[in-house]
Amino acid sequence: MRPEERTFVAIKPDGVQRGLVGEVIKRFETKGYKVTALKMLQVTDAQAKAHYAEHEGKPFYPRLIRYIQSGPVVAMVVEGYNAVAGVRHLMGSTDPDKAEVGTIRADFAQVMEYNVVHGSDSVESAEREIAIYFDENEIFDERKCMSELVTEYLDAD
Ligand code: UDP
Ligand code: MG
Repeated sequence: MRPEERTFVAIKPDGVQRGLVGEVIKRFETKGYKVTALKMLQVTDAQAKAHYAEHEGKPFYPRLIRYIQSGPVVAMVVEGYNAVAGVRHLMGSTDPDKAEVGTIRADFAQVMEYNVVHGSDSVESAEREIAIYFDENEIFDERKCMSELVTEYLDAD
């Protein structure tokens, strides 16, 4: 069994336009998660509808679909122990004013629509959402610590 989970994270257009990409990624990295895939993209109609299929018919759905396509998004796969719940914890509640202080949404957002980040709500959603945005060959889960890199460097040639 795979000991680590992977989850899908997107920095939404408000986060990208406000220059918060580095701040958001830093929180995941300093927690100890691995960012194993990363790209900036314009979300297509098909991707937006697939991503938010569970919300179709809700009052906020049309604005959500329009909003997620209103500018570039930074999409990521984030991996680590209990990463699905852990990333949601770092993100905070959907409504920034209900999110705990210290979370991304509490610290960087004011209203629900522009809440900076998306994170999958279950392992199943994560796998479904990753497949909407990434091919498996775009995900790189190998990591090395500095001592491994130094040893490799010294042993080279
Ligand atoms: N949303 C909104 N108004 C609402 C509920 C949700 O604008 O009343 C937006 C918000 O950006 C949220 C996204 O729709 O992040 C998806 O909603 P969900 O309930 O899945 O929240 P999340 O999983 O992102 O916390
Ligand atoms: Mg959700």
